Amino acid sequence: MTSVVRPGRDARPARRVAAAGRHGLRGTLTDEARELSVDGRPIIDLGLGDPAAHGIPAPPSVLTALHERIDDARGYSDAAGHLTARTAVAEHFRTRLALPRITPSDVRLGNGVSELALLTLQALLDPGDEVLVPDPGYPMWAAYTSLCAGSVVPYPCPEANGWRPDLDSLSRLAGPRTRALVVINPVNPTGAVWPPETLDGLVAVARRHGLVLFSDEIYDGIRFVPDPHVPLAALAPDLLCLTFGGLSKLSRLPGLRAGWVVASHPPGVGRAYLAAVASLAALRLGPNSVGQYAIPAALSAPALRDAAALTEPGGALHQSRSAAHTAIDRQPGLRCAPQDGTFYAFPRLDLPPGTTTNEFARRLLREKSVLAMPGQQFGSHSDLSTYLRLTTLAPPTQTTSAIERIGDLLAELWTDHTGRSEATARPKRS
Ligand code: PLP
Repeated sequence: MTSVVRPGRDARPARRVAAAGRHGLRGTLTDEARELSVDGRPIIDLGLGDPAAHGIPAPPSVLTALHERIDDARGYSDAAGHLTARTAVAEHFRTRLALPRITPSDVRLGNGVSELALLTLQALLDPGDEVLVPDPGYPMWAAYTSLCAGSVVPYPCPEANGWRPDLDSLSRLAGPRTRALVVINPVNPTGAVWPPETLDGLVAVARRHGLVLFSDEIYDGIRFVPDPHVPLAALAPDLLCLTFGGLSKLSRLPGLRAGWVVASHPPGVGRAYLAAVASLAALRLGPNSVGQYAIPAALSAPALRDAAALTEPGGALHQSRSAAHTAIDRQPGLRCAPQDGTFYAFPRLDLPPGTTTNEFARRLLREKSVLAMPGQQFGSHSDLSTYLRLTTLAPPTQTTSAIERIGDLLAELWTDHTGRSEATARPKRS
């Protein structure tokens, strides 16, 4: 008997992709928002963290550098990235981030942190190897761990603990299969900035269990507190630490897909692993060449001063954050302290029983034309279903209007829930 071949019959997606998809951020909500926009509905987007999309300009010197080098950028770059760009990153780490031993050969460039995170996890993990990831945290790290057939071990960072990890319970989560500890600082989505004592504690756990540190510091310059950023690597000179950063956030150039990973380690430590990273990087030939030409200009002193001004009073990031928190404080059902870093607020919503921010975010988009991210997208902790992540990048009037609509929807849900008017069901708005 001849078997009938049906086209597409075998196109079943890999199981590990489905596992990774559970942690996805650009889910159906973002797609729906885009469709509504295309249909002409004005949407206030407090969803994705893209400063360029909110009209925050990049320094003209960086754009000039890009325009001038566009012809040079036609060819493949080295797999590790252009030497001039790697030199600029190494210099940045040596002079501004107090890591005096970093050289260009410790720096690898890629198409954003997103590509480098996958590449470096792929080079590390065998099936079943465990990775400790912050919960809540940026879901890419859990997604990629799953994609590499690794096992995600979330470490809770509850609001009751200032969105910081409980170091004792973290230590108990590490076992014989644990290979790496992911740290995100400042933290997306909570906006927390972890202090040096917390970082020291994390390093001690990694030291005790022989873990590789993966430190995602893409928001390192976006801080609203006076103390300077402390790179995790500076506290872990005896460990292999990979520090991730790039041009997507403070430099306002996410479309360039320009990121770096810097490996710091005592001499000889991690040699075989870093060689594996290099061979994987060579397989994809090299990162996008154009974006690399922006790196020296973006890390120059004037561009960094220009970027720092955004977080100071009067700067766009400062203003949007202030507007968000003033508006949040006016809504009786929302509660959140201003974030110390990043451009995200993570308020807790006083939702009627049985409602989660998953449903809330969908109704918010459909009924109030506001896109915001439900807390469940950032971790597995059940409590997260009452939080909403709001990007504080939009102009203050838009941010304020979006948060008022959140308050309105909340009031409507309570009215539906109790069958009474908001006036009797809920405290009055001040
Ligand atoms: N890491 C964190 C914590 C992020 O929030 C994001 C983007 O939002 C990324 C990495 C992605 O960075 P990139 O644009 O360099 O891929």
